[in-house]
Amino acid sequence: MSATQDKKLTDIVIGDLMISSEKVAHVQVNNPLEHALLILVKSGYSAVPVLDSSYKLVGTIGKTRILNTVLGLERFEMEKLSETPVHEAMNTDIPCLSKTDTFMEGLKVVINYPFVCIADDEGYFDGILTRRVILKQLKRDHHTFKSNT
Ligand code: AMP
Repeated sequence: MSATQDKKLTDIVIGDLMISSEKVAHVQVNNPLEHALLILVKSGYSAVPVLDSSYKLVGTIGKTRILNTVLGLERFEMEKLSETPVHEAMNTDIPCLSKTDTFMEGLKVVINYPFVCIADDEGYFDGILTRRVILKQLKRDHHTFKSNT
């Protein structure tokens, strides 16, 4: 039985819905952009979390940011992919939630982001919450509500 099976939306917390860190593809701050692009292309994800060497969350990196970073005046300067570390291109202006935040807090954030990172009070990465999971939960709640009326 899933952690949210019999719960009302108001009783669900982010920890019930998140994809835990072991199952989340990530890159490290000092990896070259080439490595990040490889992970993104192979996984099919548009962006992934960036962690430091102690597994603290420091940002996210996506395909668009990588391509913008290597874009020169007239061409993509692909040699920059191996020369530039992820921390020079990553997005650090990202929302972050904790496992104890509510479903509604998660819903508000995924209106503007396809996923949101979850970290603890000290910044250690716990996982991600995706828009897909929030929408699935809303659909499930809608069906449960309909079948109870
Ligand atoms: P989804 O809602 O499953 O399509 O995921 C939306 C976005 O969340 C993806 O494009 C990725 O940026 C991120 N994402 C989802 N699952 C993972 C995962 N297991 N590892 C890393 N990023 C993920």
